Amino acid sequence: MSDQQHWHPQTRAIRIQHPTTDAREHSVPLFLTSSFCYPDAETMRAVFADEQEAYIYSRFSNPNVDEFVQRMCALEEAEDGFATASGMSAVFASIMAFLKQGDHLLSSAAIFGSTHTLFSKYLPKWGISYDEFDMRHPEQLEKLIRPETRMIFLETPSNPGLDIIDIKQVAEIAHAHGLLLNVDNCFATPVLQKPLLLGADLVVHSATKWIDGQGRVLGGIVLGKKELIQEVYLLCRTMGPSLSPFNAWMLSRSLETLHLRMMQHSANALELARRLQQHPVFRNQPEKVKYPFLETHPQYAIARKQMRAGGGIVCFELPGGLEQGQRFLNELQMLSLTANLGDTRSIASHPASTTHAKLTEEERLAVGITPGLIRISVGLEHVDDIYADIEQALRKSAG
Ligand SMILES: *Cc1c(COP(=O)(O)O)cnc(C)c1O
Repeated sequence: MSDQQHWHPQTRAIRIQHPTTDAREHSVPLFLTSSFCYPDAETMRAVFADEQEAYIYSRFSNPNVDEFVQRMCALEEAEDGFATASGMSAVFASIMAFLKQGDHLLSSAAIFGSTHTLFSKYLPKWGISYDEFDMRHPEQLEKLIRPETRMIFLETPSNPGLDIIDIKQVAEIAHAHGLLLNVDNCFATPVLQKPLLLGADLVVHSATKWIDGQGRVLGGIVLGKKELIQEVYLLCRTMGPSLSPFNAWMLSRSLETLHLRMMQHSANALELARRLQQHPVFRNQPEKVKYPFLETHPQYAIARKQMRAGGGIVCFELPGGLEQGQRFLNELQMLSLTANLGDTRSIASHPASTTHAKLTEEERLAVGITPGLIRISVGLEHVDDIYADIEQALRKSAG
């Protein structure tokens, strides 16, 4: 075991495996069992008394779920983790394990829609107050900290505006005030960015996106120091948002290719973004194409400092607003029109008429969603084919 600690995270994401059964299988079997057996009453008593370690019940832990958690810990360089049924249950658990009535939460403004609903609609109902800070101006953050503030939550790169926030800078502010820093690392994955190494206390993921990588299963995880994850575990084993063994088995298998996939998604995305900046629609306003690793990105320097590559999301702003946004989607022939992201298949979406349609125009603009904004989740098809489809739709929707 000790040798494995020296392996690269990408090796450990492949080689960490649940010990083989008597069948001596090469690949891990699927443990579709809700509970586990004991050889005798004394062992059973000792396990329940926490004197002996063994599986009890799959709401608490399961071999497939454990394997996924251990591989994620290796990738994020985290001490421990707890896997959940979806990204939202991971976000929920990472908040509720630490905040109580009277506490205050600070969050970056541009966050995933359901996370925003949880913070703005449900937390106040339970007596937890909440304020947002503009991630483009992190210096505002300190003014919003109150005696009852307990945690700072942030998402970087943000969805869908791709704003980047300096994790290390926010970690320093958080720790100077004794607050926990919780980072949603869904867009970058641990292959591209490791918030815990930059000072974050907790990392949450929707494993549904890049981690699964083929749009098949829902999942999530919270990662961090052992004593913090123990709190998440105690809450979740009681509340029950645990990851199913089948989904864990799928996700664990996906982790074996995560490194390879994220580097290729990023290479395709950077190439696509560069070609779009050369396109006649954007040539005179290259800043309308947004990607963290383009020199024109407002937080390019921060992105280069904390990310290994720019990730798989590219955004651009069509000059024809809402109407051209919808026309553009209708002209696409290969790209899928769907709300998911992080798939091998490229996906196009128009946030202003779909995921963010419920916000007011003002709220949308505050988080960088202009009427003509298109979000592309760049897949693993050949970049020439991805560009060709977008290019013909740009041309046909321009009229
Ligand atoms: C999708 C997503 C979530 C929620 O994850 P689910 O698995 O859909 O519950 C949270 N944060 C970000 C950034 C996401 O993209």
